[in-house]
Amino acid sequence: MKKISIIIPAYNEEESLPLLYDRLKDLMEKMNNYEFEILFVNDGSKDKTIEIIKDLRSKDERVSYVDFSRNFGKEIAMIAGLDYATGDCVVFMDADLQDPPELIPELVKYWEEGYDDVYAKRRSRKGETWLKKFTSKMYYRILQHLTNVEIQIDTGDFRLLDRRCVNALKKLRETDRNTKSMFSWIGYKKKAVLYDRDERVAGKTKWNYRKLIDLAIDGITSFTTSPLRISTYISIPTFIVLFIYFVYVIAKCFVVHEAIQAYQAIILLILFFSGVQILLFGIIGEYLGRIFNETKNRPLYLVNEYNGKKEMNDEK
Ligand code: UDP
Ligand code: MG
Repeated sequence: MKKISIIIPAYNEEESLPLLYDRLKDLMEKMNNYEFEILFVNDGSKDKTIEIIKDLRSKDERVSYVDFSRNFGKEIAMIAGLDYATGDCVVFMDADLQDPPELIPELVKYWEEGYDDVYAKRRSRKGETWLKKFTSKMYYRILQHLTNVEIQIDTGDFRLLDRRCVNALKKLRETDRNTKSMFSWIGYKKKAVLYDRDERVAGKTKWNYRKLIDLAIDGITSFTTSPLRISTYISIPTFIVLFIYFVYVIAKCFVVHEAIQAYQAIILLILFFSGVQILLFGIIGEYLGRIFNETKNRPLYLVNEYNGKKEMNDEK
């Protein structure tokens, strides 16, 4: 029997967990041709989350858990989940039931058809303001422009990953993690499944705008070094303005025989040196970008198949 690991990062989710477990239990009964593992990652919760998880485990052996020493954030909880999951595939889910477990059979169906990364794409988002929806849409547009890796729009972390994607993701061990960008980066055969995102069942969202902006900046900077180019690009118009003004001043000097004024010389000098400075910043940025990419220590490529055999990315 194939085994499905459901990874659930949980931070202060005492109210949601019993409801979540009930829904998962129903699901597991329906999908009785699979083995299950419900892997909770307790991300340093300050409420009774861990007690509830331990209690669930004492009643149901399919429940297991990783308990963090403190709050490390969802991204780290996710990689820990991958490290500890034992299934042939994993499903990431939020603890607050915003990702309906009832969608899992459909994700599994596509996995059985041979897809490696079946991700749930939001058709609608209940209980979220238009501002959050709008900013999220703009953000993905901009991000897609900045990078040549294909980005999945309207997609959260709710998805099913084949074992080889799990092994691939385990190789990306950078500390500033942006898991969403990693799902895109690993590639493999992807399939979108549409769903309606529910409101969280209980408790409050752990996100606020500051955290979201941080996440957005992390997303861009972990995907691409193109922001470092801004400097190089700014230097170009500066040099163009310098050139035009230089021609104008010189022309005036020779054609109208008007002596170069002190202020004109100063403007020329300012334009010249600021142009040079911005350009030098850009050059430093280029090298910094290369160092940045190098220090990520990612594998240089991932193989899909070798001689007709799927590459599993496990250690040889
Ligand atoms: N979460 C976590 N660590 C954190 C913050 C959140 O493990 O530091 C978990 C949380 O318990 C939930 C999931 O990440 O299972 C998504 O969090 P939340 O629902 O607050 O985010 P939103 O759905 O509002 O984006
Ligand atoms: Mg949520």
